[in-house]
Amino acid sequence: MTESAASGSLDTSLTPESVPFADEHKARLSSFQSGDERFVWGVRTDTGAPWFLSENTAHESRAFVKEFVVCPVPGCRAQLTTAHRAKKRDGLQHMSDGGGHSRESIFHSQGCALVEEWLRREFPNSHVQREEYTNELGERRADVLLTGPAGDRVAFEIQYSPITPDAWRNRHESYRRQHIADVWLFGHTGKQLQAPPRRHCVRQSHARSRC
Ligand SMILES: [Zn+2]
Repeated sequence: MTESAASGSLDTSLTPESVPFADEHKARLSSFQSGDERFVWGVRTDTGAPWFLSENTAHESRAFVKEFVVCPVPGCRAQLTTAHRAKKRDGLQHMSDGGGHSRESIFHSQGCALVEEWLRREFPNSHVQREEYTNELGERRADVLLTGPAGDRVAFEIQYSPITPDAWRNRHESYRRQHIADVWLFGHTGKQLQAPPRRHCVRQSHARSRC
């Protein structure tokens, strides 16, 4: 996390000129959603930490993956292998038919692993935990919970499943009651991330609107 992001302000490198118009946004989103599902994060069995498959390393990583890396979807933990793809990115795959989980489950686990690894790297003096109950009653379970040295907590939610406004509000208020800041990252598929119509283009509080 950059200093500006940590302090709550927006990335100042995002100038008004670089804010994408809705049409460009739609094209970029369409490109991103074009079908390369990018199963690239697993979990190391020896450390429990996320493990990332770099591009074009399927062959050299295969023996290690088979021995030490499993599927990160909760409840699966299936043995994985690597696949080299000429036209798409190298990826991970189950050794046998996939676990039965949905695409959204894979996407969700990939997002959680990415956020977990990023937080561990950026905040080495903090504690980072996947799917941890945030109070003793188990009132709410964060996808990734960051606990700072002073005990301050930030919950990261990677949301791929549908959620109603009321359900979101309940979860948000639950976090607030526990004095936890909640950060919501909505997935790249589903109704929650349809490209906005032009009249709803991105606005920034400190930048001139391009609408
Ligand atoms: Zn699996």
